[in-house]
Amino acid sequence: MLDAMQINQLKQKLVPYISDKVPPYALFQAKTSDTTITAYQSNKVVFQGEGAELYAQGYQKNNPYPQAGSDEVGTGDYLGPVVVCAAYVSEENKKFVEDLKVNDSKQLNDDYIRQIAPALMKQVPYSLLVLENSKYNQVHKTNNLNAIKAKLHNQAYVHLRNKIKQLPSLSMVDQFTPKDSYYRYLIGEKEIIDCLQFETKAESKYISVAVASCIARYTFLTAMDQLSAKYEMTLPKGANSEVDAFAKRFVERYGMEELAKIAKLHFKNTDNLKD
Ligand code: MG
Repeated sequence: MLDAMQINQLKQKLVPYISDKVPPYALFQAKTSDTTITAYQSNKVVFQGEGAELYAQGYQKNNPYPQAGSDEVGTGDYLGPVVVCAAYVSEENKKFVEDLKVNDSKQLNDDYIRQIAPALMKQVPYSLLVLENSKYNQVHKTNNLNAIKAKLHNQAYVHLRNKIKQLPSLSMVDQFTPKDSYYRYLIGEKEIIDCLQFETKAESKYISVAVASCIARYTFLTAMDQLSAKYEMTLPKGANSEVDAFAKRFVERYGMEELAKIAKLHFKNTDNLKD
């Protein structure tokens, strides 16, 4: 038995081998040169053939619970805050979270996140940090982006631990910098959570990271909505030429000082204002 997230991962790996025919009660079937892999709606997965053992490797171990995970949003967007979330998923909440399909990355667009995040935030313990742009611009003078992220993730875990008393042995950071440099950025911090693990693309491997990512994204979207309403201009996401054009119009209307309240000024987009 695999969980829904593992089945998704398996399916992604097997994309070139997925057959058009789906047996009764199956989600999909894949046929390689020497192995047939069938995933059933019951979450049972059957590996048959010479390569079966090889393909099954790595799927014996279940994604353990409870688990905590963290992720950040907004660091690639010129406009809007940086949001970091750490979330905790207990064995009891596993089904709740899976039913919301938080683990299905294809499902997780902004509209879907807006639908499910409020329910998640009611059910699942989490801690959330929002670094507003004014503060961000000030902090960035003496900290690079990875240092800022490390301090925010650490702080989010401090708050989460205070909420749930003890962090689980699986507490996973969606890796943005290797473990040793992460902890180097934290030298001098008052409290350091030292039991963390780090993996890239963790949001597609650990449901707690997917939950954290979802809550952070929702909070970022809400902040963008609020800023758009306040300034009566729709803030675009990302850092592309559309964002450049927006920044120009914004500065014409409100001035540079106001831009510092909604933008990450060290981005190249600020230089582009002079063109
Ligand atoms: Mg991430």
